[in-house]
Order: sequence, then structure tokens, then C-alpha cells
Amino acid sequence: MDKDPSQPLKYQRILLKLSGEALMGDQPFGIDPQIVAKIAKDIVDVRALGVQIALVVGGGNIFRGVQAVARGGVDRVTGDHMGMLATVINALAFQDAIEGAGVATRVMSAIEMNKIAEPFIQRRAIRHLEKDRVVILAAGTGNPFFTTDTAAALRAKEMQADVMLKATMVDGVYDKDPKQHADAKKYDEVTYQEVLERRLAVMDATAISLCRETRMPIVVFDLNGPHNLMRIVRGERLGTLVRD
Ligand code: UDP
Repeated sequence: MDKDPSQPLKYQRILLKLSGEALMGDQPFGIDPQIVAKIAKDIVDVRALGVQIALVVGGGNIFRGVQAVARGGVDRVTGDHMGMLATVINALAFQDAIEGAGVATRVMSAIEMNKIAEPFIQRRAIRHLEKDRVVILAAGTGNPFFTTDTAAALRAKEMQADVMLKATMVDGVYDKDPKQHADAKKYDEVTYQEVLERRLAVMDATAISLCRETRMPIVVFDLNGPHNLMRIVRGERLGTLVRD
């Protein structure tokens, strides 16, 4: 792998969280292969710098337990199981795209499905990272009533990542919804406590609390900006840093 020693890296090991919605593109549902290919390229480029990458993908582009319950006809636990399976579909799409770009990956699932993914075993997952494989973590936490943001917070710590990078459709954390308020102010930095107290739209409270507990810094950023992932691992201050 090409590692350029003249380019110091701010982060050596990252946990990247992508929401399922990021994969839809202009479609109302499902996976846009061009978007997946573009994100896969960003990941491959960052890995070429020598960064170890674990990826947690959501499933909201296919199925969300809570929404299914709201529409009726499915019990919450079943709905969440369906949601977790949706994340596996997205994980396989990424595996295909990243391997198509020439980089080895391993999909590790929190729900055992040995024909298509390895079970998530922390030590083994770290070993894959050390061998420069991109580790794609599927099926959330494996438990209903959680989100993939919480799975990302959990895995970030388990994988001993330097940072959790939360890719969103906006360029950081705002004091109010920037789509509805022209005077919304973006934070360059914000504490976990402020996020919780002001109910800022970063991640759900369980995920934020876990990051606070484990002192895992979070960078909320817009993945669509030019080379944003690369710029962040090289130390550029993009998006919003959530910390103690
Ligand atoms: N889910 C779950 N437990 C987990 C992670 C996810 O039950 O640990 C289910 C839940 O139904 C959730 C769905 O999987 O709605 C998809 O995940 P999420 O909504 O977090 O995806 P994203 O919003 O990131 O696309």
C-alpha cells in the first residue's frame, strides 16, 4: 500500500458511520450503485494513506423498525430484526463496491449468518484492520431497540478507533435546523453534554451517551463535499467535533 510519510495523519484508525439514506441518491428507496461506488472510492483513497477503516452502515434506505410499527402490522422486535437485516444488504453492497476497487474487506455481522458474513468477534475484527482490510460491520448491535448510530458508538470503542466519523447530509451540527431557520448557527465544536441538553440533532441520546462514557470523539461532516473524508483524516477541521 502507498503510504506517504510526508503526510502526517490525524487519525490512524477510524470508524465511519453511514446512514442508509446516504445510499439512496435521488431515489426514494434502496441503493443507488453510483453513490455506493463513489463512497467506496472515498474509502479506498483514505485507506491508501494507511488509515485503518471500520464501516458501520445503517438500513434506513430499506427498512426502519419504528416506522414499520407506526404503519401497523408488525411488532417492534420483528421490525427491528427486519431493520438489522436491511443493514446487511447495505453492507454487502459496500463489500462488493470496495472489493471491486481492489481492496480486501470483511463483513462482520452482529447476527450470525455464516454463509455471507463472519460473526463479529472483537479481536478478530481488530486483526482484520491490522491486515489493512476494510471491516464492514453489519446488523447493528444485534439487538432490537437500538440504532446503527449506537452500534457505531459501541464498535468505535471496541475497535479502538481514534474517532467516529458520522457522515450526514449537512455539513455539521447546528443550533437549530438549518433547512428551516436561515439564522441557524453551526458549531465547530460542541460537548456531549450540550448535545444532550439542547437535544441537538447529531445522533440519538443512547449513542451520544455511550460516546461520552467512552470519550470517543465524533466528527459530524458532509460526506458529499470534495474529498471530505480524506481532508478530515489529514487533520483539516471540517464539520463539527463533538467532545468532552
Ligand atoms: N436496528 C436495531 N438494532 C440495532 C441497529 C439497528 O434494531 O442495533 C434496526 C432498527 O429497526 C433501525 C434499523 O435497524 O431502524 C435500521 O437502522 P438505522 O435506523 O439506525 O439506520 P440509518 O438511520 O443509519 O439508515
